[in-house]
Amino acid sequence: MRQRRRRPEPPSRPLGNVTGHFTKQGGAKKRYRTQAEARSAAQLAWTLSGVDLTSYRCGHCHMWHIGKGSRED
Ligand SMILES: [Zn+2]
Repeated sequence: MRQRRRRPEPPSRPLGNVTGHFTKQGGAKKRYRTQAEARSAAQLAWTLSGVDLTSYRCGHCHMWHIGKGSRED
């Protein structure tokens, strides 16, 4: 029998919605100081590439990021 011990372990998850602060690659996302900035960046992304992004306040750095929806997992 084969042993399957390779389970994909999720990266360390701090408390709260900190995942929104990082990209899927593990880097920090671009931050915006105001919601207006984040929203205009989201709108620009939509204009340029048609991706629908949402702006949200980050609980980690208390600034604004943009991302796809509320869940990015
Ligand atoms: Zn953040």
